[in-house]
Amino acid sequence: MDTDVVIAGAGPAGLTLACELAIAGVRTILLEREERRPAFCRGYNLNARSLDAFDRRGIADRFIAEGVKVPAAHFGGLPGPLDIGGLGWDHPYTLGIAQTRVEEILEDRAVELGVDLRRGQAVTAFDQDSNGVTVSNEIRAQYLVGCDGSRSAVRKLAGIDFPGTPNTRYAMIGDVETDLTPGRHGGVFVIPRPGYVRVVVADPMVDRAEPITLALLNSTVDEALGRHVELANPRWLTRFGNAARQAADYRSGRVLLAGDAAHIHPPAGAQGVNVAIADAMNLGWKLAAAVHGWASGALLDSYHRERHAAGARVLLHTQAQGLLGGDDLGPLRDLFAELSRLDGVGRFLAELTTGVETRYEMGEIVGHPWLGRMAPDIPLVIDGRAAGVAELLHGGRGVLLDFGVLDHPPLERVDMVRAEPLREVPVGAMLIRPDGHIAWLATTDGRAEPGPLAAALERWFGLVPV
Ligand SMILES: Cc1cc2nc3c(=O)[nH]c(=O)nc-3n(C[C@H](O)[C@H](O)[C@H](O)COP(=O)(O)OP(=O)(O)OC[C@H]3O[C@@H](n4cnc5c(N)ncnc54)[C@H](O)[C@@H]3O)c2cc1C
Repeated sequence: MDTDVVIAGAGPAGLTLACELAIAGVRTILLEREERRPAFCRGYNLNARSLDAFDRRGIADRFIAEGVKVPAAHFGGLPGPLDIGGLGWDHPYTLGIAQTRVEEILEDRAVELGVDLRRGQAVTAFDQDSNGVTVSNEIRAQYLVGCDGSRSAVRKLAGIDFPGTPNTRYAMIGDVETDLTPGRHGGVFVIPRPGYVRVVVADPMVDRAEPITLALLNSTVDEALGRHVELANPRWLTRFGNAARQAADYRSGRVLLAGDAAHIHPPAGAQGVNVAIADAMNLGWKLAAAVHGWASGALLDSYHRERHAAGARVLLHTQAQGLLGGDDLGPLRDLFAELSRLDGVGRFLAELTTGVETRYEMGEIVGHPWLGRMAPDIPLVIDGRAAGVAELLHGGRGVLLDFGVLDHPPLERVDMVRAEPLREVPVGAMLIRPDGHIAWLATTDGRAEPGPLAAALERWFGLVPV
């Protein structure tokens, strides 16, 4: 083998995955088709869940230091954003930060960790057999991961179906300068960016082949507003559609997919970067376990099961958000806006749109509300020292966190930590996977969920009881 894993594509998915593999001691070659990152910037946010994930690797501050904290999320541009400041989350805000900066910070970390990043090299072919994958006729690896975006060559070459719905509506985007104030102006959305605004307007699609020029965007905006406004200094002009598709399988043998390669959805709700990061966090430790030879086939298959289900939720709510923005749905939008202000509904929508609701299935019994969810960053005292749950995961290993109810011998692959929680917690102990999700817990009255600890250690860490 020339390396353990080849990743195609150095966007948010590929870079996050490369970092995850590196901290797990997996040799990785990251092949990126482009010599350099494009000058334009697609996304502009990290949501609460992405910040939680980066915090569990000790790098959230690198992003937070450069972004703008907005204690709100929104759903389909409904009037009255969702207030997330009071929801008690570890990061109760959305971070405004350019996707290009997110990628640069991740790339610096990947290089710091020793990832072999090769720019200007596209994956154009591969062959897989029972022992490995040969990529572009030259690199032999145990696994190949397609993080190569919505038109993924890896997905197509692997013959993985991409079912869903095609584009039926398009919108134009222009990153420009204008006197229009941020907000919604009838059918024109104006989104603030540093030094410019992003203007979004429905594309009448007279001729799809017609390239978007400033004049075309300007006349479309004028028509939607019923008056002339000046748009100037375009940085990026493009159009996007409302297609929603999901790979039928996120894994085909030794080939896996993550990020846009595995799912596409309308940009409403600003999800893509964040779901890509969540995919990579879920896949990284499982793939590392497979490379190191202690993962059961079921562990790697749980990547598809867990992330396909989470991706389906993203398709659901981004499509709903896209529809709510439609011109002909005014009454539905008004009604939905009223509903979103009802007790608990705002929280539900905020958890949905930030991925905070994500709960993986951990067994038959899913009674305890924490099981399967990301462990909160509970403040702790460990041997007289102040700490937090998030920092226990910086090394990317599993953690068996005991608040004084267990008597367990030391474990391979899992750090055992005895701690005192500094706030009231509804658990006596928890087994936390490297991605921060709770795989097993003991309640304060001594019940074990979803079953014996030994079964969870075997399922997630390949630790067979002796
Ligand atoms: C207009 C617009 C606005 C958006 N706004 C937001 C937002 O506000 N928030 C948000 O979270 N998301 C947003 N998104 C979505 C977000 O940009 C994507 O979902 C995200 O970039 C997906 O990350 P990825 O790593 O999966 O893929 P990509 O970022 O697309 O990265 C794929 C990489 O693979 C490379 N590549 C392609 N083919 C090959 C190959 N054969 N071999 C090697 N390399 C290859 C590409 O050059 C690229 O670098 C927006 C998207 C658009 C279009």
